[in-house]
Amino acid sequence: MRFRLAAVACVLLLAALSASAQTPPTPAPLPPDPTDANKPRSVPGFDPGALDRSAQPCNDFYQFACGGWLRNNPVPPDRARYGRFDELTERNQATLRDILESVSKPDPKRNPIDLKIGDYYASCMDEATIEKKGVAALKPQLDRIAAIKTKAELAAALARLHNTGVSGLFRFGAQPDFKNAKVYIAAVDQGGLSLPDRDYYLKDEARFADVRKLYPGHVQRMLELLGDTPETAGREAQTVLDIETALAKGALERVKRRDPANIYHKVSRQELAALAPGVDWNAYFTTTGAPAFSELNVAWPDFFKGANEVLGAKGLEDWKTYLRWHTVHDSAPLLPAAFVSENFAFYGKTLTGAKELRPRWKRCVDLTDEQLGEALGQRYVEKTFGTEGKERTARMVAALEGALQRDIKDLPWMTDTTKQQALTKLAAIANKIGYPEKWRDYSTLSIVRGDALGNSERADAFEQARDMAKIGTPVDPKEWGMTPPTVNAYYNPLENNINFPAGILQPPFFERTMDDAVNFGGIGAVIGHELTHGFDDQGRKFGPDGNLADWWTEQDAGEFEKRASCIADEYSEFTVAGGVHLNGRLTLGENTADNGGLRIASMALKDTQKGQAVPPRDGFTPAQRLFLGWGQIWCQNETDESAKLRAQVDPHSPGRYRVNGVVVNMPEFQDAFSCPKGAPMVKENACRVW
Ligand SMILES: [Zn+2]
Repeated sequence: MRFRLAAVACVLLLAALSASAQTPPTPAPLPPDPTDANKPRSVPGFDPGALDRSAQPCNDFYQFACGGWLRNNPVPPDRARYGRFDELTERNQATLRDILESVSKPDPKRNPIDLKIGDYYASCMDEATIEKKGVAALKPQLDRIAAIKTKAELAAALARLHNTGVSGLFRFGAQPDFKNAKVYIAAVDQGGLSLPDRDYYLKDEARFADVRKLYPGHVQRMLELLGDTPETAGREAQTVLDIETALAKGALERVKRRDPANIYHKVSRQELAALAPGVDWNAYFTTTGAPAFSELNVAWPDFFKGANEVLGAKGLEDWKTYLRWHTVHDSAPLLPAAFVSENFAFYGKTLTGAKELRPRWKRCVDLTDEQLGEALGQRYVEKTFGTEGKERTARMVAALEGALQRDIKDLPWMTDTTKQQALTKLAAIANKIGYPEKWRDYSTLSIVRGDALGNSERADAFEQARDMAKIGTPVDPKEWGMTPPTVNAYYNPLENNINFPAGILQPPFFERTMDDAVNFGGIGAVIGHELTHGFDDQGRKFGPDGNLADWWTEQDAGEFEKRASCIADEYSEFTVAGGVHLNGRLTLGENTADNGGLRIASMALKDTQKGQAVPPRDGFTPAQRLFLGWGQIWCQNETDESAKLRAQVDPHSPGRYRVNGVVVNMPEFQDAFSCPKGAPMVKENACRVW
């Protein structure tokens, strides 16, 4: 339940949507499985049954590729969104459940890893014990908050909460120094909000104002569950909303945060103290266990100026209320059922439109993965991942890198000087496939059977200590930012590497028995997507060694911006539920990566099949199957609430536009399906960056 310091890693999709970084995992869900809900379902690669043959590929390619699937796979009641990604996530979850159930039996002969993950999972599943403990499980935390006597003591109290995974006021952690990315420095960043975005506190549009109106009621009910009277809790809820609204005013907007220069301000500790003198920074840093340091990144200094004012303006009791709220909010998933359902009613139902809480085992599998990911991940990899998957993926990465290299060399708009720099950066991209070479050592973490919340707090404290120890030390590029079963991938601009966890190297992304065309449209385009992130509007600002550095000539940078604006304008026209527009600037990096990724996947497929006459399969040529492979990984149904929320916070476009928004720009697509000029899937002024 720990919140991570936001870095600038570019993931393939934002899977879990949480309000603050640490609301409960999004309802993720079982599609009805008539045979056995525990048995991993197989997920097909390319599926002709998912097509809608009554649709015309040149009119609406997404409908053609996914219409059948969309019709047959409504959003299950315990989810807000359901797509083919999620089918695979479901399958991985079932595998993890098998592992966890077999190691959670209290057998004294279990090895240390099985003991930890087994006891963690068993404690999480043990609802009877959780009910019996009731609010007492939170008492030590709440008592410490109650004991705060002066505002000066707030800083150390906040640090103690941060150490055990409770959020509040701001965030603190280790982060590669943007201008010396081989070394970790300390960094503080904005935080302390419980709604998904600053706009929910500040804007009048109904989609924000409606949520804001319901929020205090939720805070009040949670505080009543802690034992406060309705009158007191009602007043406290207003206090929480007031404090968070004041903090939101100083927070930097999501789109502006995409420019790394906006979130990099390295200052001395004295300068931080001058910025926010109301915080006892020495007490805060000492209590977090951070080693001595003299400089740090203050991501967005104005936030700390603003927070300092709020700190002065609100009384001690108000701040204690704010901390109590964050404590109960962040602990909700492992508290008694009344807390879990109230938390779901607001963060699940109201915010995302999910109708039912996910079964407990799924929530506990997710929590184990989140908190002990590299212990559970070892078992997952042993059970599922062969060396063959790794080798074939490595070969595809090489093919995609070759295609991107050629693409850069042939770009008509870039001068040779910048091309040379781009090629140097591309050659320096490292790739990681499957799982870490060296697993995290959890031996100092104590997991106690029957203490679900305590286990979670200790696991957070373990991660916090690991994070603090990084400050001032070299960055380890072999460390992973995702756990092995994760169905996702990422590019890390500060390490200049691409990462593909074992969880995604399966159908529908990659299938051993499938033809190259479909695999290139799936995992191939995903690899291309991650590579392109090194050269999107954000990634292009980092050099081959991960440092924030401008390697572009002014002319080439101008040409890039012109082309990127075409993409931004295109996607800003797209709408989701209730006519809400996508934000083309928020989604620019992802859309650029989708466009570049599929283009180089198409080039790589042609290279691979050069000189061969590959016959059609299921009635489709290889070129068509490439696009169908891409189209089908994005088949996705979603509630209106979720679509509106994501339009505000998710840097990724919804499935429909990840497909149609890309193919309209590709002459390769027009050729493959013989689309006439003027067809809806043929954009008159096609956008192209890479
Ligand atoms: Zn991405």
